Amino acid sequence: MTKIKPQPGILDISPYVGGSSKVDGVENVVKLSSNENPFGPSEAAKEAFRKAGFDLHRYPSTGHEKLRAAIGEVHGLDPERVICGVGSDEILSLLCQAYAGPGDEVIHTEHGFAIYKISAQANGATPVEVRERERVTDVDAILAACTKQTKLVFIANPNNPTGTMIGEAELGRLAEKLPKQVLLVVDGAYAEYVENYDGGAALVDMRDNVVMTRTFSKLYGLGGLRVGWGYGPAHVIDVLNRIRGPFNLSTAALVTAEAAVRDIEWAAKCRADNTRLRAWLAEALAEKGVPSDTSTANFILARFASQDEAEACDEYLKSEGLIVRRVAGYNLPHCLRITIGDEPSCRRVAHAIGQFKEGAR
Ligand SMILES: *Cc1c(COP(=O)(O)O)cnc(C)c1O
Repeated sequence: MTKIKPQPGILDISPYVGGSSKVDGVENVVKLSSNENPFGPSEAAKEAFRKAGFDLHRYPSTGHEKLRAAIGEVHGLDPERVICGVGSDEILSLLCQAYAGPGDEVIHTEHGFAIYKISAQANGATPVEVRERERVTDVDAILAACTKQTKLVFIANPNNPTGTMIGEAELGRLAEKLPKQVLLVVDGAYAEYVENYDGGAALVDMRDNVVMTRTFSKLYGLGGLRVGWGYGPAHVIDVLNRIRGPFNLSTAALVTAEAAVRDIEWAAKCRADNTRLRAWLAEALAEKGVPSDTSTANFILARFASQDEAEACDEYLKSEGLIVRRVAGYNLPHCLRITIGDEPSCRRVAHAIGQFKEGAR
């Protein structure tokens, strides 16, 4: 058989593996592996989704005007420079498609989100992995890794799976010092979980070389619907709109996301619950001898003594119906990423890890 060859880079891709959601033979499982909001979307969002069922014969808006206007109002941004996509994954992918190809380099960090590397490879560009400092983005290391071929730098702030973030001064310094041909992408998938943080929006407004991406999949509880957005300089948004599919978002996705972003109270409640439960879980695990970095997102990265111990703990949690995320693929084989669930789930996972540690001694 002759296999017809795809574009360069594509066969080098290791496909993305999502968080699992089932354990064979175990009932009443709790899924803490995909950083989903345990409370789901707001009532207003669910109602908007139900109503959208009556208009399924109509094509959706191509310009996403109403959703962009809502995002602009709520976040204080210029809606003309907002672009909406099928999850923020689509925006990340459009950025690679538009700005990086064969011979170009795309920087991501040592424990950075897997999609950056996949999107670079999908477009024939070369992903370049830059070390972090103790699981925190290292601006100097990124600057040192830039070459004439560098086109894009992706950082998630807060980062997944570490949960750590860098401050606005460091972010600004990175944007300022990058070579002229480089676009900085600040992935704010977890920005809504951080009090008084704009996700990098002010930096976007001040500069021509920064794009911010955001999502409805995490705090807004709409991972299953697939809506994300980007905010950037007019010249970048214009480029991305030229290659975006005109009907990339369904009407249901558009109206539901609009209702979700306008429900400021629900967002505030989810943020506050997450902050409280995250502090509780981190402390409970630390008391049982499982440390984690201070997280600013809706998960914590639990560190174990070794890869063997992390894997054994994962197996034990699974047998107890608790699904967390292994992160060996993110160069963190001795860690497990645990999403902050509702209060009973946090208690269950803390209790089970305590039991595992007892047994291990
Ligand atoms: C979850 C996540 C995303 C986005 O996902 P979408 O569902 O495609 O919006 C983007 N970046 C990071 C770092 C994430 O963890």
